[in-house]
Amino acid sequence: MADIIPLTIRCHRAISRSNHILLPITLIHHMTHTTTGPTPPSPTTTITTRNYHQNNNHHNHNHHNHNPPPTKPTMANSKYEYTRNFETPHPLLLNTYIILRLDGRSFTNFTQTHNFQKPNDPRALHLMNASATATLRTLPDITVAFGVSDEFSFLLPRECALFDRREDKLISTVVSTFTGWYVFLWPKYFGGGEGEGEEEKPLLAPPSFDCRAVCYPSMGNVRDYFAWRQVDTHINNLYNTAFWALVLKGGLSRREADAELRGTFSADKNEILFSRFGINYNNEPEMYRKGSVVYRDYRTLEDEDEDATAKATATATAPAEPSTSTEPPERNEQREEEQQTTAVPKFKSKTQREKEKKRARKAKIVTEHVDIIGDEFWKERPWLLGSGN
Ligand SMILES: [Mg+2]
Repeated sequence: MADIIPLTIRCHRAISRSNHILLPITLIHHMTHTTTGPTPPSPTTTITTRNYHQNNNHHNHNHHNHNPPPTKPTMANSKYEYTRNFETPHPLLLNTYIILRLDGRSFTNFTQTHNFQKPNDPRALHLMNASATATLRTLPDITVAFGVSDEFSFLLPRECALFDRREDKLISTVVSTFTGWYVFLWPKYFGGGEGEGEEEKPLLAPPSFDCRAVCYPSMGNVRDYFAWRQVDTHINNLYNTAFWALVLKGGLSRREADAELRGTFSADKNEILFSRFGINYNNEPEMYRKGSVVYRDYRTLEDEDEDATAKATATATAPAEPSTSTEPPERNEQREEEQQTTAVPKFKSKTQREKEKKRARKAKIVTEHVDIIGDEFWKERPWLLGSGN
C-alpha cells in the first residue's frame, strides 16, 4: 500500500515542483490527503496512516458506496504491526498500457466435467462474455476486453491509477471479480432452456483462472497484442472445427484426426470441411471465428453531446496549463526545459478522474464479434486507446 511509505517522503524534492509533472502515485495520494483531504486527525491521536486513509475513504474503490464506512477497531501501535513492512508492493511501470490476461486453469478437465459442446459451446462462451461485461461494469477503469475460448484480456489505459498500479492488487481483483461472476452467472446460462442441447447443467466443480499483467509502451504494441489474440482465435478455431468434424462426423479417432490435419494449411482445412462435411467455414458463427470484444460504447450516451468523447480525449491529453506559481524563475525554466525535451507524462486531476469514472459507469457495455486487426474498429472508437504515442 502507498501508506507504508514513511510520511517523511512528503519532503521529497519532487513535491515542491510543479504538479504538472507526473509524480509517483504514492506521492500524489499523500499530496491529496495533505492539501485537499478532510482535516487530518489530531497529532495526539494514535491513528496509523492506513487507518487515516480508511477513515477518510480515500482508498475506497467501491464506487457504489458513497458513505464512509463506520470506524473499525484499530490495530494501531500493536507490536506486531511492523510485519506490514515486509510487504513489497510492485507498481507497474508508469505511462504504459496494462493488459491483464486471464486464462482458464485445467479447463480441459473442467470442460469434460461439464460436457461442453465441441468445438465450441455457445453457452460457455456467452457466460465468459457476460462475466467479462460484469468485470468491466465493476471496474470502470477497463476500456476494452477481448476474449476467446477460456481466456480474456482486459486493457487499462496508460494513465490508469487504480490501486496505485500495484500489480498484485490489479491481477487479484480482475481475476477474482471475473471468476466470481462466472460462478454467479453460471445458472443463468446453464440453467436449462427450451431448445435442444439446452438441458440444465449444474456447476459440478469450481472454475479457476490464472492471470498475468503485461505493460505495453505504445499504442502500436497494444494493437498488435489484440491482433495476435484474434489471429490465434482464427488459427485455433479453424483447426478445432476441422478436428471435431473429422471426429464427430467423420468417425475418426482423435489421434487419426490429429494425424490427418498435421502439416495442413488453412486452405487445406477449409477444403476438408467443405468437401467432406459440407461446412463453409466462413458461415460459422462470428463469435467462434473472431472471438468477442467487450467495450464501453460512449456513442450510446444520450445525454451527452456528440463530440463529448472527442473533447474528453482531447482534455485527457491536453498539454499542462502554464504555471501561475510564484516559483523562482530558474525552476520555471527547468520545468519548461523538461516539457520541451522530454515526454513528461501527464496525470489527471482527481476531479477529472471522478468525472470520467461517472461517465464510464453510464456508458453501455457492448459485446461484438468483429475484426480488431484492421484500423476500422479502433478508428471508430478512439476512446478505447486514448491518444498519445
Ligand atoms: Mg486457455
